[in-house]
Amino acid sequence: MEKIGILTCLHSNDVCARVGCLSSFWRRKDFFAKYAENTILAAMLTCNGCKGDNPSEPEEDKGILEKLDRLVSEEVKTVHVGVCRLIEDKKECPRMTKICEMIESRGIQVIRGTHRE
Ligand code: SF4
Repeated sequence: MEKIGILTCLHSNDVCARVGCLSSFWRRKDFFAKYAENTILAAMLTCNGCKGDNPSEPEEDKGILEKLDRLVSEEVKTVHVGVCRLIEDKKECPRMTKICEMIESRGIQVIRGTHRE
């Protein structure tokens, strides 16, 4: 039984109910196609917001550090990152990139993608 999580942009909360990510997971399609039926979606987390709203960089943000500790203690093996990681010109938001690096440094695999973009 494998545990996975989904990481999304805090700002996208304003307009997104996570339906695309969740339905792809329940249907085991798109980036979730490889998972067995008994895979558990064990965690949903967001970034710590844009610099203008939250000056704390992810490495020093207590909330982010606590969330990543929780992923480790829950033995989450993989975190998928939503399309909301992409900002202008379809470039990845630098805060998202940093958080992905922090997740990987804790031994958790990061996969960029949830549903088809
Ligand atoms: S820092 Fe990036 S990922 Fe986070 S809310 Fe802002 S745009 Fe979204």
